[in-house]
Amino acid sequence: MTVETPQEKFTFQAEISRLLHILSESLYQNREITVRELVSNASDALDKLRHAALTDTDIDASDLLISIEPNKDEHQLVIRDNGIGMTRDELVQNLGTIAHSGSLEFIEKLQKSDTKDDVSLIGQFGVGFYSAFMLAERVEVRTRSYSEEQGWVWESTGDGSFTISEPAEKLERGTEIRLHLKKDLGEFTDPARLKYILRKYSTFVPHPINVDGEHI
Ligand code: ADP
Ligand code: MG
Repeated sequence: MTVETPQEKFTFQAEISRLLHILSESLYQNREITVRELVSNASDALDKLRHAALTDTDIDASDLLISIEPNKDEHQLVIRDNGIGMTRDELVQNLGTIAHSGSLEFIEKLQKSDTKDDVSLIGQFGVGFYSAFMLAERVEVRTRSYSEEQGWVWESTGDGSFTISEPAEKLERGTEIRLHLKKDLGEFTDPARLKYILRKYSTFVPHPINVDGEHI
């Protein structure tokens, strides 16, 4: 017997849909930026957990780690952290339904000129997460907040809507971003290529980063 997981469907806020459309047509050269943005979010999540642990002694903020897990056979790239995680409400708000003040400004900037440098500014406009759709045809986010036992799955193909459901398994604290890579982007499952990108953009991240189980 198959047990159906109840799924709730949400529509992306209009500017986010526009942004996703623009990003999906973005230049090939921009794609390394996605790794930088997702690692930067993982690092922020670890900082937030560490901060919460200052006042809440029940929180174990040891062994904080960002883990990059390429899977060539499955054509997937996973970016995982054991940071603060997100509740269901935070997932819905942070990844899709709340307009960021910067998103419209960013769209307007991109529409004036489509040079690669403009897309690389995405992080400064508070919408870096959506760069995931430059690499992936489908994105799954599995997350569990430090404040809850229940975890959640967010899923989208970037075409106007996303779903939220309960995971079949119990989740660890933190967030896992699973990129189901676009067809021609197998290079993002190459550990050497990932290490090159991390050295280029993420040298100043103040947390340990593993690639394929190896500390870099
Ligand atoms: P920014 O990082 O500038 O806020 P993003 O689009 O990169 O913008 O991320 C949006 C929000 O989603 C973040 O502010 C954070 O609340 C949430 N988020 C994204 N990635 C993670 C993560 N790995 N762990 C916890 N929260 C996250
Ligand atoms: Mg960010």
